[in-house]
Amino acid sequence: MTPSSVLRDVFGYEQFRGQQQAIVETLCAGQDALVLMPTGGGKSLCFQIPALLRPGVAVVVSPLIALMEDQVAALRQLDVRAALLNSSLSQQEQGQVERQMRNGELDIVYIAPERLTQPRCMELLQSCDLSLFAIDEAHCVSQWGHDFRPEYMQLSVLAERFPGIPRIALTATADLPTREEIAERLQLQQARRFVHSFDRPNICYRVAERGGGRDQLLQFIRDEHPEDAGIVYCLSRNKVDKTAEWLCSKGLDALPYHAGLDHPTRTAHQRRFLNEEGVIIVATIAFGMGIDKPNVRFVAHLDLPASVEAYYQETGRAGRDAAAANAWMLYGLNDVVQRRQMIEKGDAGEVRKRVERHKLDAMLSYCEVSSCRRQNLLQYFGEVLPEPCGNCDTCLSPPATWDATKVAQKVLSAVYRTGQRFGSQYIIRHLLGEEDERASSNGHDQLTTWGIGRELQDRQWRSVIRQLIALDYLNVDLEGYGGLRLGENSRDLLKGQISLRLRHDREPEKKKKSRGKAGTLKAGDSQLWEALRGLRKQLATEQGVPPYVIFHDATLMQMIEALPDSDAAFLALTGVSEKKLQAYGEAFMAVIRDHADALRVPDGMSTTSMASVRACLQGSTAAEIAAKRELTETTVLGHLARGIEQGLLKLEQAVEISPQARREIESALSECDAMTSEAPLKAVYERLGSETPYGLIRCVQAAALSQRG
Ligand code: ADP
Ligand code: ZN
Repeated sequence: MTPSSVLRDVFGYEQFRGQQQAIVETLCAGQDALVLMPTGGGKSLCFQIPALLRPGVAVVVSPLIALMEDQVAALRQLDVRAALLNSSLSQQEQGQVERQMRNGELDIVYIAPERLTQPRCMELLQSCDLSLFAIDEAHCVSQWGHDFRPEYMQLSVLAERFPGIPRIALTATADLPTREEIAERLQLQQARRFVHSFDRPNICYRVAERGGGRDQLLQFIRDEHPEDAGIVYCLSRNKVDKTAEWLCSKGLDALPYHAGLDHPTRTAHQRRFLNEEGVIIVATIAFGMGIDKPNVRFVAHLDLPASVEAYYQETGRAGRDAAAANAWMLYGLNDVVQRRQMIEKGDAGEVRKRVERHKLDAMLSYCEVSSCRRQNLLQYFGEVLPEPCGNCDTCLSPPATWDATKVAQKVLSAVYRTGQRFGSQYIIRHLLGEEDERASSNGHDQLTTWGIGRELQDRQWRSVIRQLIALDYLNVDLEGYGGLRLGENSRDLLKGQISLRLRHDREPEKKKKSRGKAGTLKAGDSQLWEALRGLRKQLATEQGVPPYVIFHDATLMQMIEALPDSDAAFLALTGVSEKKLQAYGEAFMAVIRDHADALRVPDGMSTTSMASVRACLQGSTAAEIAAKRELTETTVLGHLARGIEQGLLKLEQAVEISPQARREIESALSECDAMTSEAPLKAVYERLGSETPYGLIRCVQAAALSQRG
């Protein structure tokens, strides 16, 4: 067996992606590897293939039970001898897995980190023949990261206790400092590094200025993802509950997920999200790590994430299947203030706060950027994207900027004059000169800055202040009450030594259709698509696994394109191994055959007529079919008439015709005694005033004949 033959025979894939092959070879040669690869890049194969090629059992450390279960289920589908060892098993089951490990009857075992480092487990491992260690989600070892798990710190013992066993650490998030931290803490300084591009080209990044909040979300989902699975992130549990409930009241299938829900509820919601189509999870950041669902079509943020890493990680859960997906976020003045306050009010030490401020600044700069968002994002991870991407909101509709020097000076002066104590709302009222008890009792309505900002509206001032905070011209007070103070950069601006351009907030965004593959199917194909999905769902339910463990959407799509009718043809599909062919080939090919039968060319129809009929059934008009097939419209209508006569098509599907026009044609047909398909239509044509096209007459005639026959 070679890496390539395992890839083909066990996993059903033709080619390695990216650096997969080099990684596999590194492990097979007994060397360590540190792999940075974006979500969906194909990390699992990097250790699963060496696990099958090297003697002994591979130990995979993974932080989440649900993820382990899915991976094990998927591997068993492929006949790989995989198991997991965690607290969800009974004593007896655990004993069995341990025995199998000792006897060399397993290829891969998934173990939770907290269990792995227990003495009992260490002893077990010592008594087994081990092929490798894989540490998935390795960024969990980073203390500054957003997913820190103390258990991961203990994993350094693996290097000491098992010096001869190769180790591979994998992660999809890692800015440069985190990378070093992983290498150091896991003792992988000597490991070969495989750094992939972090770009996720199929994800369209969009940031919308907050207006109606959840109404914007609803509109986004209805316009662009009416039947898709997605994740909506909120900052607080309370907001999660309310948002989920509200979406449900609007007819969407939304479920809440946060650490405040009891364990069975959380598990049930996660399961529904994984196992069903089109479920939306509304969640705090507690949700998502290790979510393997490949066809999550959108990730929406209703609140600003704390850092670019968190944002990248969370949005990365969209579109693992490489089909188009949306990362959509709402952002406004309150987010900036709230996040700043959270840092200042928090009880982290000053060093940590400085790190957090720095991370937030990067996040804000991403939100406010007027050039390509993807360039900004990748730059954060130390990567240079030479050209703007063309698949983010700033590329698709570049925001306009304006000279805001004067306006910014007004804000800064107002903040300064009122004593650097008041929040944005107060400052805006001050600038607008709105009657206000607080203002008059403070004597602020007597200041020269009172009412100097009537040229802008409330909303525009909020946009200006938000950007001034993001750019550090204004700071949110350290006491954490949201008062604004002058920031470091403000002096030069106030003195008129620099000028400032800000972005215009865009109008509520225009629709951009970004649908999953299913959304772009033709009508006839979508019947087959539904039939294939139905079968997949049924098989998955029978086995208690998520549908994508049976086949991915991409494989179903290929079935629709290739319509395989032999084992060889089925095996050639991406993601179909020998094992899956045996298990499912027949059932799926039967569905495909049934569908093809339905489209069979019936007697009395020529293939060319049939082609027009199919196109019509898939929603094309006669004129469109004529243009596409380079025929005259009369010819195409003739084809359709034959289809109508055979009962393949209804008159209304073929042509647009009013009931009255139809009646007129019918009576002309019977008056001219032309109710057989061979009858010449010239007399009918003339009787109708020589205006009604022949093709239309022919179709009406066919409808009448088929009704009779
Ligand atoms: P990651 O863990 O990096 O997020 P996965 O290992 O789950 O990604 O892989 C993402 C998807 O890509 C999976 O559906 C996997 O089967 C598929 N995949 C991985 N490698 C290949 C390959 N060489 N050819 C085709 N598909 C692949
Ligand atoms: Zn772009």
